[in-house]
Amino acid sequence: MFTNAHPATPVRGPAGAYFRPWVLLRTVLFMLACIAAVGTGVTMEHAKLRSIAKAESNRDLSNLARAFSEEVGATISTVDVSLIALRGHWQRDQASFASTVEQLNRQLRRKVFFQVKATDRQGVVRFASGRTETPAVDLSDRAHVRTHLQGDGQDRLFISAPVIGRTSGVWSVQLTRPLYDAAGKVDGVIVASVATAYFARFYNTIDLGPGSSISLVGSGVVLARSSGRNPNVQVGARLTGYPYDPNTERAGLFRRVSRIDGIDRYYAWHKLEDYGLIVTVGLATADAHARYGSRQRFAAIMGIGILLALSMLGWTAFAARYNRRRSVKALEEAEVRWKLALSASGAGVWDLNLKTGRLLLSSQAQALLGIDAGIVPWTVGALHGKVHPDDLPAVSAAMRAHLDGRSADFMAEYRVLRADGSTHWISERAALVNGGELGAPKRVVGTVTNIDQRKLAEQEMRYMASHDALTGLANRTLFRDRLEQALLHAKRDDNMLAVIYFDLDKFKPVNDNYGHGMGDQLLVQVARRVRCSLRKSDTLARLGGDEFGVLLATCASQADAMKVAENILSLLNMPFETDSIALRISGSVGVAVYPECGPDAAGLVHCADQAMYAAKQNGRNQVALAAASTELPG
Ligand code: GH3
Ligand code: MG
Repeated sequence: MFTNAHPATPVRGPAGAYFRPWVLLRTVLFMLACIAAVGTGVTMEHAKLRSIAKAESNRDLSNLARAFSEEVGATISTVDVSLIALRGHWQRDQASFASTVEQLNRQLRRKVFFQVKATDRQGVVRFASGRTETPAVDLSDRAHVRTHLQGDGQDRLFISAPVIGRTSGVWSVQLTRPLYDAAGKVDGVIVASVATAYFARFYNTIDLGPGSSISLVGSGVVLARSSGRNPNVQVGARLTGYPYDPNTERAGLFRRVSRIDGIDRYYAWHKLEDYGLIVTVGLATADAHARYGSRQRFAAIMGIGILLALSMLGWTAFAARYNRRRSVKALEEAEVRWKLALSASGAGVWDLNLKTGRLLLSSQAQALLGIDAGIVPWTVGALHGKVHPDDLPAVSAAMRAHLDGRSADFMAEYRVLRADGSTHWISERAALVNGGELGAPKRVVGTVTNIDQRKLAEQEMRYMASHDALTGLANRTLFRDRLEQALLHAKRDDNMLAVIYFDLDKFKPVNDNYGHGMGDQLLVQVARRVRCSLRKSDTLARLGGDEFGVLLATCASQADAMKVAENILSLLNMPFETDSIALRISGSVGVAVYPECGPDAAGLVHCADQAMYAAKQNGRNQVALAAASTELPG
């Protein structure tokens, strides 16, 4: 019954809660936490994919480096074998050497193409393939010639750093061996010039991506290099600071930002043991990771999706929590207000927990119910000894009816017994309060109010409604009620009863001569005197003006009724002493007896009235008996 209380500040609608600063702040904090968590997850997934990409790239690069090194090795070996063969030719027959070179090149065209030169012991070119006239170019300053002419005469293959041909302008690597005279002394140098592009041609057969590179390095100088669509870029460049040690290892992996083109790559290197050359194959890390780009994007999109979903959930949850907090606060405020209102009104409140059987009482409730503790155990019998025994059945029935769900509210008005034996009226209202998820009643909350004043007022009203204000006698209404009751008993017990009507004779002159107040005094004295002469069970009523009625609830005979009527008349004849004078009056009395005068109240009253009228008509100051009715009593 308290749920109707409205909070002073209305709670905003649920939608409005989404944009409250409290909600937004928490949502942002929650989002940050989510970003951290989801971001970590996505980063870990990316790292995993990157490491897979790296492992796969390294495996591919290692294989390519090995394959490339074998290819280069095979090329060099072919050239070297050709050099040795050509040297033999040169030493035997220089005249047919040109055609031999041409023939060899024709044979090798598909595999490798190289130019051949032969110098004398001064390093001056004596033969150059593809020329009709051999220019006397001095190559003695070139390392690949110098190394043999000035060396120890050992028959070794020398592979030069790349050079740009003085006549061709093409980058080439010189592979040289010494020429010997008949005495076995170095007599010159035979040179095979292989265009660096030959070494890199293998690159063109595979597609590693635009950021990839293949290099052939010898003595720290780039002999051949291919990178994406830029073959031979940086040929001849000198490399420093290797991330590997070719003296202790044959192959390996590393990652670095290329000093040549600035691209970050995974590299695999492989050493050609026989020639002191190193092959490196590089794959741009961006290209390597791009293999898993779609999965990385998918992980990122999933992360963003999860983040958005979590954020929405968090936002909704915080808004709901905000609404709940507001509702609870509003409820608490409302509770404070109604408690205050109840306290100000003097009402007490109690709260009974049906589960625990604990009854909580406010201080007013304690005072009103005569209980001197704020928390007491409650039992069904607790009402006994507190409630007036006359009221207890009604109170218990009302409470039972409410607990059984047969009444919406519990309402009772009853008298509470005080320790000193006195009673006071209270009004109690209570209602079951639904609690828990299943809505099972858990508590009964009630109020108690002192209604002594109201009960007193009601009592007075009831008394006034049934009594004459001047004499205090029953009025016509009450007289009629009692007559009906008496008739029921008389019929049930087969008794007689009598109705006596009397009217004061010439009362008006009293008013006229001595004033209205004197008339009132006389009426009061008549009432008192006649009342005293009657039995307690009889009823004397003032029916109006100077007219009175007497109900003899039990009456042995008609004669008895006549005797009472005669007595009333004699009482009226006796003088009435007032403040100033003694008044003498008389009365006209009519008597009607049940069952002779009829079976019902209306008939009896009518008969008594008629008999009284007859007494008046006969000269007043006498008793008249109503004639028996011809109707049989019912
Ligand atoms: P009768 O002999 O025929 O009975 O005449 P009466 O003078 O007694 O007058 P009646 O019975 O016809 O009328 C009763 C009068 O009593 C009328 C009214 O002036 C007077 N009266 C009625 N109620 C009151 C009252 O409460 N106080 C006083 N003082 N007089 C009343
Ligand atoms: Mg009269």
